[in-house]
Amino acid sequence: MNHAPLVRVESLVKHFRLPGGWLSGGAQILHAIDDVSLEIYPGQVLGLVGESGCGKTTLGRCLLRLVDPTAGRITFEERDLLALKGAELRRLREEMQIVFQSPLSSLSPRFKVFDCVAEPLQTHRRLTRAELESRVRELLEQVGLGRQHLDRYPHELSGGQCQRVAVARALALSPRLLVLDEPTSALDVSVQAQIINLLAELRAQRGLTYLFISHDLGVVQYISDRICVMYLGKLVETGPSDAIFDAPRHPYTQALISAISLPEPGAARNRIVLKGAVPSPVNPPPGCRFHTRCPLAQARCRVEEPTLRSVEKGRMVACHFA
Ligand code: SF4
Repeated sequence: MNHAPLVRVESLVKHFRLPGGWLSGGAQILHAIDDVSLEIYPGQVLGLVGESGCGKTTLGRCLLRLVDPTAGRITFEERDLLALKGAELRRLREEMQIVFQSPLSSLSPRFKVFDCVAEPLQTHRRLTRAELESRVRELLEQVGLGRQHLDRYPHELSGGQCQRVAVARALALSPRLLVLDEPTSALDVSVQAQIINLLAELRAQRGLTYLFISHDLGVVQYISDRICVMYLGKLVETGPSDAIFDAPRHPYTQALISAISLPEPGAARNRIVLKGAVPSPVNPPPGCRFHTRCPLAQARCRVEEPTLRSVEKGRMVACHFA
């Protein structure tokens, strides 16, 4: 791709200090993100996948400065996001919005649909009442809702309609980047497809850029141009979506994809079942963090950490044997 990245993340680290009791020997450090670098190009959908607790949501929140990283650098169109303060940061935040997993909890139950969508415009734009009403109606139309929804409260809507309102609200300030944090995982399967289609249409119409965070590889495959797979705070594989699904190179990605792939008719399902639970990010394993569950682990994996290295054009894998 010829464009410069819209977002560049370099060596990002986010550790949380947890208060500890005397049994645990004092404060502990939770390693949510450790040395993650990635780029998101204009108009691209980057899928960020991994099991719950792998750090993907924290990474999305660091991009929006909802949490401050411990170390590393984030730039948005070459502007150093972590150096911005006050009005400059507020202006840049208008260009980056987030849609959360649970639409009901992200919308105020006291606000009608009109107010939910109008609120960012009232805060950041000087519009007449007529302009505001027209803009809210236009935004609702873009997400497939009509005037009949304007006076309803979130609890009077279905989950899918609530998520449409959340998307309309996120689009109100005409952002360039949307961080979509598990935007469909609280919805029924049939509604999930509608929301994914809506997001794909909006992206095409408005030239939006998405960071699509999900534990559901099936959903990510459908909408993403590129994919980053995360395990226990680290990226383990990155590359074009099609290439990763055709031939995953990291054992963790292989296991995730085997869980959603349907075999050819008549063929046996070749599912890789990972044994054991994800280790605690408070005390990640030495060497390769995946070695406690990896079916291919060898002695070297327990002591030597693999680096994320290029294995072919546009693809990187963190495994000694990829
Ligand atoms: Fe598995 Fe070893 Fe590769 Fe880690 S480095 S993914 S433990 S084979």
